[in-house]
Amino acid sequence: MKHRRSIELQPPAGYAIETERQALATLPQWFVMHARCRACRHQTPIERRDVIRRCGDTLSLATLARRLTCRGCGNRSGNLLLLEKLPRD
Ligand SMILES: [Zn+2]
Repeated sequence: MKHRRSIELQPPAGYAIETERQALATLPQWFVMHARCRACRHQTPIERRDVIRRCGDTLSLATLARRLTCRGCGNRSGNLLLLEKLPRD
């Protein structure tokens, strides 16, 4: 049995993400983040590298979610941080 990569961590069962404990640095690479506005339902992808450059990679996902500002209507409360799991390979 061959391993293509020697270091490969298995994702947790069910892919439950604990946003309070999960930080940008620890979020697996195969998750893509999206922000959705609660007020106008505007949705936009979030570039992880951009956020890390501005806020650092120790920012928790929960904190990031609270900082989201909608580019459509300017709403800043109750916005959702969505995680999309990309197919691997
Ligand atoms: Zn909005």
